[in-house]
Amino acid sequence: MKHIIDQRRIHPLNDHPIGDGPILYWMSRDQRAHDNWALLHAQTLASEKNQELIVVFCLVPHFLEATIRQYGFMLKGLEEVEQELEKHNIRFHLLQGDPSKEILAYAHKIKAGAIVTDFDPLHIKKKWRESVAHSCECALYEVDTHNIVPCRIASPKQEFGAYTLRPKIHKVLHEYLTDIPSLKKQTLEVSHKKTHWKDVYDSLHVDMSVPEVQWCISGEKAAHRVLKQFIHERLHAYNTDRNDPTKDGQSDLSPYLHFGQISAQRVALEIKKHGHGHIHMQAFLEELIVRKELSDNFCHYNPHYDSVVGFPAWAQKTLKEHEKDAREYTYTRTVFEHAHTHDPLWNAAQLQMVHTGKMHGYMRMYWAKKILEWTKNPEEALQIALYLNDKYELDGRDPNGYVGVAWSIGGVHDRAWFDRDIFGKIRYMSYNGCKSKFDVAGYIKKYNPKEE
Ligand SMILES: Cc1cc2nc3c(=O)[nH]c(=O)nc-3n(C[C@H](O)[C@H](O)[C@H](O)COP(=O)(O)OP(=O)(O)OC[C@H]3O[C@@H](n4cnc5c(N)ncnc54)[C@H](O)[C@@H]3O)c2cc1C
Repeated sequence: MKHIIDQRRIHPLNDHPIGDGPILYWMSRDQRAHDNWALLHAQTLASEKNQELIVVFCLVPHFLEATIRQYGFMLKGLEEVEQELEKHNIRFHLLQGDPSKEILAYAHKIKAGAIVTDFDPLHIKKKWRESVAHSCECALYEVDTHNIVPCRIASPKQEFGAYTLRPKIHKVLHEYLTDIPSLKKQTLEVSHKKTHWKDVYDSLHVDMSVPEVQWCISGEKAAHRVLKQFIHERLHAYNTDRNDPTKDGQSDLSPYLHFGQISAQRVALEIKKHGHGHIHMQAFLEELIVRKELSDNFCHYNPHYDSVVGFPAWAQKTLKEHEKDAREYTYTRTVFEHAHTHDPLWNAAQLQMVHTGKMHGYMRMYWAKKILEWTKNPEEALQIALYLNDKYELDGRDPNGYVGVAWSIGGVHDRAWFDRDIFGKIRYMSYNGCKSKFDVAGYIKKYNPKEE
């Protein structure tokens, strides 16, 4: 049978041969039925072997700082995945517990011939995959269906910055930015057992204090609606409006991309179709492809992506030299969390994140840099920023988040600037700088009206 997937996307995680049992797609990062190379590969293997394709997702009781806001969003998306798979006569099975045990037990129970899973550079996901690869009795393949150019192919090492990854990606982009085949309806006879989603929801023991948001509807269909709306209403001004926190200039696709409810490859194809090569299209594709894939590169190749030790040497040195500098303000995590700093702009950004689950991209930089300025040391700043980002952002717990914070606090993918107090040579941002760029009062009024 002709391969429908570029074989370079596939990475074997053990050397077991493919057996005769059902083929399991262990869905994890990429929670969608369509435009999913890992699922398509599993389907190809199943049809080659004339075996059933089964999709399984393992829900963990806790994941980093995720709360009901993110769990609720994810479960709604998975419910839609189940419905969509049923339309294609593909069984979906929800497991609960530790994936390194549950996936293994399930694969053993159904005597799986092979397992296919998706790529994710975060430590915890790597550990699950390594554990299953080591203990399972069948072949385990990882398919990078999150990046357009697979992370392992784009570069074999940690890149210095966008300027070193960009040419590597652009050189091969045309080989990967191809159309994606449709998922086929499975022809075998299959008995579907529906998941009781309400029971799953009721069984959750996650932090319930951060409410779900209403403005961002979960699921693959909603993701495509958001993309369509962005293309028709805002893409034409993206490059001018995206850095203004008082304007609705960004795409709002990050929650969908984070949960894999939409494929970055599909987004890029649609944007190219409608963007006619203009500057706004180029700017958007730079973020979606180069910047996003640079984050996966950093987290995949740097085992210290969430620690100060992961910062470049020049940044660690300069921050150390300034560690004892006097701080005009120092705050605890609680003061930051409750948006009780002296700065109404910072508080507004924190409140935007707490209430909407998505802080504007420009404010994220200011927000993280001020945490560095107002804490005892960079270690504490990093910890607080990651804690808040992962707890409140819908798109948190993502390589983009670890890199965004490390860029702001630790100079990752940036260059050395002029030496100054506390920051050393890390790029600085100020309240007055923001004032010269956008309507600071308008932003504060919108998200922090009490301090206006
Ligand atoms: C301190 C800090 C924390 C951040 N935390 C996160 C996070 O937790 N999750 C997250 O997805 N992004 C994070 N970012 C990156 C960026 O701010 C968001 O991706 C973007 O604001 C999401 O909104 P959007 O989808 O509307 O963006 P758009 O401007 O419409 O961009 C489209 C897509 O391009 C990608 N992209 C855009 N900007 C960046 C960037 N700077 N780096 C990498 N990829 C980018 C994202 O996938 C985004 O969804 C962070 C940045 C900083 C400085």
